[in-house]
Amino acid sequence: MGGQSGEMSIFVAKFGGTSLASAEAFRKVKEIVYADHRRCFVVDSAPGKRFDLDSKVTDLLYECHERIKHGQDFDPVFALISERYREIVRELGLSLNIDAWLSQIYQQMQRETSPDYAASRGEFLNGLILAEYLGYEFIDATEVIRFTADGFLDLEQSEALIRQKLDPKRPAVIPGFYGVMPDGSIKTFSRGGSDITGAVIARGVRAELYENWTDVSGFYMADPRIVPQPKLIKLITYSELRELAYNGANVLHEAAIYPVSQVGIPINIRNTNQPEEPGTLIVKELTEPRDCGEIVGVAGQKDFVIISIEKALMNSQLGFVRRLLSILEELKISFAHLPSGIDVVSLVIHSSELKEKLDQVLARIEERLAPDKIEVVTDIALIATVGQGMAYRSGIAAKVFNALGKAAINVRMIDQGASGLNLIVGVENKDFIAAVRAIYNAFVN
Ligand code: ADP
Ligand code: ASP
Ligand code: MG
Repeated sequence: MGGQSGEMSIFVAKFGGTSLASAEAFRKVKEIVYADHRRCFVVDSAPGKRFDLDSKVTDLLYECHERIKHGQDFDPVFALISERYREIVRELGLSLNIDAWLSQIYQQMQRETSPDYAASRGEFLNGLILAEYLGYEFIDATEVIRFTADGFLDLEQSEALIRQKLDPKRPAVIPGFYGVMPDGSIKTFSRGGSDITGAVIARGVRAELYENWTDVSGFYMADPRIVPQPKLIKLITYSELRELAYNGANVLHEAAIYPVSQVGIPINIRNTNQPEEPGTLIVKELTEPRDCGEIVGVAGQKDFVIISIEKALMNSQLGFVRRLLSILEELKISFAHLPSGIDVVSLVIHSSELKEKLDQVLARIEERLAPDKIEVVTDIALIATVGQGMAYRSGIAAKVFNALGKAAINVRMIDQGASGLNLIVGVENKDFIAAVRAIYNAFVN
């Protein structure tokens, strides 16, 4: 930990979509940034929702690209996007020529084949505005965030560029969510990826702290949209957080953790609307026992498919699982979990990965592995109960199953994560909310 060359203490502050959705939100951001001179690098997201039924600019940009691709009129959607930015610029009284940028983007969007360019413009434009409003330099993400030719973050190259181009004496705004491919084209991370940009910048400048400013006062023990007023987690380890984030608690993108955890930079989740609150601090190790009890949290996600493959004496067949996984590799499908028994192995895959490829997967399994039986179960929600030492405390699993039993919820799958940090249960989609609430209440109330 510590500032660059040990002289200056640097904070990287990433602001999420709702924190930059309107002129009023920008004003709050300025106050926060100005309140501490260590906040010298700011990473922005595209304008998010201002109210429940509002659109996120990123979604509108994807919509523009879709329409262009299908030869449809995208002007009405582009007009909505333009108005969002114009309004912010106007209300903040800035002199930035936003219309010139908008018309350039309007032209370029029609020449691009991938959706990434269009999607990236949300963060790009918001970054230009925020830089002018804060009086900070604007450094485009294409200057500091690099991808490899196969589309993965090139952490080493990005780090080198950040060290070269960012100087804490020259505070800057860097747009989140995207970077550049070796061929010069724009590439985005997956949704919510501005969190990753913030983490990479924090690592590159060896920040003392990575602040992630959002619309909630930190990480709660459960999704506040599911459990009313859940308990706040004040302190959590990187690995516990990664389990929660990977399993659906999308406050922070799960890939935003390793760039900072590897070099020991703590992450602080903060609320832009309540900046006086300390939020959640994410660290390597707990220095004192946590006060929130046996588990740290519950997270989950709907829409998984379980493909169970049975074959007698599977365990003695060398390479069986390898051949199974190579089918997924060929079809470019990532799996979420791989629980196995003596003569059975299950692939647990999110439906967004499978799309229309399920039949192909099944056909190849039949053909190459000649299983005794294949069973496919769809519409499954996975729920992870996370905490340190879960694997060694039998009482915890009993509590989870008891709670589900009492709520008359059928458990369709169980996987005790190899990390020893979580217990995952699969239930039917329709039972998702009731199951999360039942588990939460068993531990907290
Ligand atoms: P941003 O636009 O700032 O990146 P996100 O929408 O990506 O914000 O993440 C914040 C949201 O995550 C919250 O508004 C909340 O609804 C949701 N969320 C899901 N699980 C949790 C949790 N365990 N604790 C806090 N928020 C959660
Ligand atoms: N604007 C992008 C999205 O909606 C990235 C982000 O918000 O982090 O996914
Ligand atoms: Mg986010």
